[in-house]
Amino acid sequence: MSPGERGSMRRILLALLLAAGGQAPELRAQTAAPNAAPPAGVRTLYLVRHGAYDLEDPRDEDVGKGLLPIGVAQARLAGDRLRGLPFSFDAVYASPLTRARQTAEVIAAQLGGAGHAAPRIDIDPDLAECTPPTRRADIMAKEKPEDLAACSAQLERLAARLFTPVPAGSGDRRELVVAHGNVIRWLVTQALGVDPTAWLSMSIGHASITVLAVDGKGLVRVIDVGDVGHLSPGLQTGAFGNRENWDLDAPGGPAGGASPPGPIVLLISFDGYRWDYPELHGAPALLALARVGVRAQELVPSFPSKTYPNHYTLVTGLRPEHHGIVANSMWDPEWQAAFSLADRAAVEDGRWWEGEPIWATAERRGLVTASSFWPGSEAAIGGLRPTYWGRYDDTVPDEKRVDEVLAWLDLPAAKRPRLVTLYFDEPDGGGHAFGPNSPQAGAAVAHVDALLARLRAGVAARGLDGSVDWIVVSDHGMTPVDTGKSIVLADFVDLAGVAIDDLSVFGLLRPQPGTEDAIVRALTGAHPHLHAARKGAMPGRLHYRAHRRIPEIVVWADPGWTIYGTRADLAAALAKFDPPRGAHGYDPAERDMHGIFVAAGPSFKQGITTPPLDNVDVYPLLARLLGVPAAPNDGNPAATAAMLAERMP
Ligand SMILES: [Zn+2]
Repeated sequence: MSPGERGSMRRILLALLLAAGGQAPELRAQTAAPNAAPPAGVRTLYLVRHGAYDLEDPRDEDVGKGLLPIGVAQARLAGDRLRGLPFSFDAVYASPLTRARQTAEVIAAQLGGAGHAAPRIDIDPDLAECTPPTRRADIMAKEKPEDLAACSAQLERLAARLFTPVPAGSGDRRELVVAHGNVIRWLVTQALGVDPTAWLSMSIGHASITVLAVDGKGLVRVIDVGDVGHLSPGLQTGAFGNRENWDLDAPGGPAGGASPPGPIVLLISFDGYRWDYPELHGAPALLALARVGVRAQELVPSFPSKTYPNHYTLVTGLRPEHHGIVANSMWDPEWQAAFSLADRAAVEDGRWWEGEPIWATAERRGLVTASSFWPGSEAAIGGLRPTYWGRYDDTVPDEKRVDEVLAWLDLPAAKRPRLVTLYFDEPDGGGHAFGPNSPQAGAAVAHVDALLARLRAGVAARGLDGSVDWIVVSDHGMTPVDTGKSIVLADFVDLAGVAIDDLSVFGLLRPQPGTEDAIVRALTGAHPHLHAARKGAMPGRLHYRAHRRIPEIVVWADPGWTIYGTRADLAAALAKFDPPRGAHGYDPAERDMHGIFVAAGPSFKQGITTPPLDNVDVYPLLARLLGVPAAPNDGNPAATAAMLAERMP
């Protein structure tokens, strides 16, 4: 843009502001007039431009290209802003193009949530992007006259419909319209009553909000144009002065410029890997990594020491009572809905997963992330998923999962993930089936150690040795269990009318209201290895009180013991399976429940051992390594400060 053009743009913007401000007192005078008929309703239109989209997306020309991660983040923040308005929308309309539909879906999810259904989105073909006539000769030369005319006709049809006054006596209406830059700017020229070919003189950023009000006489007023106050400067694109379009492979693209440069962070979890397995069973690859990095003596899980609650704590820094995944099976009393690992719809429903996982923290800042089967990565949490992710499939061989990660590292620098989270379900299986001290558990440890060696060799072969920060963790440990150590609740209390959401080595009980105290009294002291408490009286160190999905009574057993509801449940469990020889889920104070933490790479000191680490402290460490501000969490960044190299890259 030449300085002259910039000057004329400022004059036009000034005129827009004056036009909007100058008309407001007139509206007030009208509505305040004494003895007037009840004022006709006002139709307020909130016009949102779609978020930044992927110019390389090879989607069909008719449906258009999809959003970039930064576009999803922009849409989410627009949704947050609109959710804060003191009313709900009477209608939501979206353009049929992919980038607008996706933006509308993210916003609708934000407007819903917390048990409320997201508003319905009506697709309006007249909201589709098109190019109306403009004063810019270069653009006019590129467009076919018939396309320009068709666009004008489409937009006039649209304006006639949107700018219709609300019928007298039906009150105010608020409508949300998710559309495109040209469409919104053209509508603003109509609202201002200026020459419609001036639309290109206006600035309209991605996910910006423009507000028009249509009064009872059909007079349209401009309340706001292109507002991006909900976006931090780093997230503002698509307006004058911002980068108009992201070029993924250019320096300055989302992964080149918005991403602070730094090492790739690989977070690897081996399910059920107990803190002492390397010495007990041998783990040459993990011990070699520890020698060039940092090993915490133990990684202390959160209660209950189960897989899903703890994997989600590792990536959010939140206790289960704060992130909502309070067990592998649970009940939400507000939604009257159940969650279990076998229920794909629940696992992929972002509403169950509260807080902000590290990949969302990173994607919101424009970093590219990837996940191979980390619990939570299959759900759009707050509208965000990792850029690369997949549905859990236990038939994918572990070696293939490693090779998929290496393929991500082969992507061009700007598309290569800065964060990869990688989950393996062993040695948990070997530990459960045969016990933590068994040769079979040892074989499972050797299997995952070979996977780590394969990944390290692949990274080295790519010359990325000095560019990767490794963090190897586990969700919990494993302790031997024995069928003889079984506790049957019905031996002590009448279970009629008690709903049981989860029961194994710990349990979640939902009794009839009013019977809670009697049940807890009956269970307390009933068995020397059984503990029971009302939710509000749970020991503070277990951090297991706050969430509505924690029911009124929690029971838990001492290590080695298993809890059943009835003798029939016990008999059925023993009839069906070889009895398990190992279990977890117990009090995190039990050392057998502790997992591993090994970190190495350019950001870490070499060859040091640190005291046990609490697993809520991993998320703030990840945020620090990625150079992104951490979302609110229960962890402490100081807990890992001594691990970090004096001069982090
Ligand atoms: Zn397990």
